[in-house]
Amino acid sequence: MSDNTNSSGLKPRTLAVRAGQMRSAFYETSEALYLNSGYVYSSAQEAADAFAGDKDRYVYSRYGNPTLSMLETRLAALEGAEACRVCATGMSAIFSALACQLQAGDRIVASRALFGACYAIVTKILPRWGVQCTLVNGHDLAEWQAALSSPANIVFLESPSNPLLDLVDIAAVATLAHAAGAKLVVDNVFATPIYQSPLSLGADIVTYSTTKHIDGQGRMLGGAVLGSAAFIEEVFLPFYRQTGAAMSPFNAWVALKSLETLHLRVDAQTANSHYIANRLAEDSRISCLRYPGHPSHPQYALAKRQMSDFSSLMAFELEGGKQAAFAFLDSLSLIDISNNLGDSKSLACHPASTTHANLSQDERDALALSDGFIRLSVGLEDKDDLWADIDQALSSVS
Ligand SMILES: *Cc1c(COP(=O)(O)O)cnc(C)c1O
Repeated sequence: MSDNTNSSGLKPRTLAVRAGQMRSAFYETSEALYLNSGYVYSSAQEAADAFAGDKDRYVYSRYGNPTLSMLETRLAALEGAEACRVCATGMSAIFSALACQLQAGDRIVASRALFGACYAIVTKILPRWGVQCTLVNGHDLAEWQAALSSPANIVFLESPSNPLLDLVDIAAVATLAHAAGAKLVVDNVFATPIYQSPLSLGADIVTYSTTKHIDGQGRMLGGAVLGSAAFIEEVFLPFYRQTGAAMSPFNAWVALKSLETLHLRVDAQTANSHYIANRLAEDSRISCLRYPGHPSHPQYALAKRQMSDFSSLMAFELEGGKQAAFAFLDSLSLIDISNNLGDSKSLACHPASTTHANLSQDERDALALSDGFIRLSVGLEDKDDLWADIDQALSSVS
């Protein structure tokens, strides 16, 4: 088997289609699916050498698999990272990326606006193991400064955040994190690898749920961790191999095929999003729009500085609270009610009663997540059909 691509110098659209492919002796066009758990050895000595680390080869698919390797090389090339490992889910990627670096007595500083399960890891699970956690309002640099005036081991953030599309100044927080002795971990799901490069802004580690835009067609769960070769080899892999976070080869193969259309899909979803956001911004039937690509977003200048475009997620608020939000969702006829996101199908949800229902009222208030908010993930349908559906659902509320 040989790696047929030398990725250096190629542009992202080319890398998303080509990087990492290893053709077998059968010269297949598309990436092969190696759906195997184990590998065989030609001699007892070869097995012993492989386990001693003297021979570089696959030994067991919990450690590595050629289909996973192709996806890992492709994602690393796209991100501009030295190394990548893929995991069974986005949460297994994030949990492994944090847990592999932490021990009792350590301290993590995180933005308050996190994906629900990330919030639970940082505020409930890690503290049980003696890791201290400080939360800050991610848009407020003074809060980061105060929290990072004492030493920390990890800084963890999401930008734009779920569900209200809050931004964090990644470059500024990277500087503060490093001065406090911490590694910066960025969950880059909402921005996707094509619109924001946290590593180039100073982050040390980037994580993805490949379930979202990277597959983007509702077919698989997966995650990815990207960083320096030293971090992946020396810190991440010893944890990952023993704890079993590996992605299924079948899912890796699905994600490889999905990456071939990532730019086409996300660019088209983003064009639709600009159109919908512009219509919503002028609509008196909503009380607040949150889209980083619209000038009404309080951090629009920062969005333009650290993102090359603004992706497919937005949130908007209806004045009538939960009742109005439910009436809106129940009136949709094309857009589905779903808590998934980044999909080619447009999906809407009510975060306060679904993705963020495990937060207390005080915690939701701290995020300014009122009961009137709808989160919308814009898909690939015709923009006029999408607007017609939103328009009629808004009318049926008011
Ligand atoms: C979905 C999501 C995750 C978790 O990914 P799974 O694949 O569902 O485990 C983490 N962070 C963000 C921002 C997400 O949207």
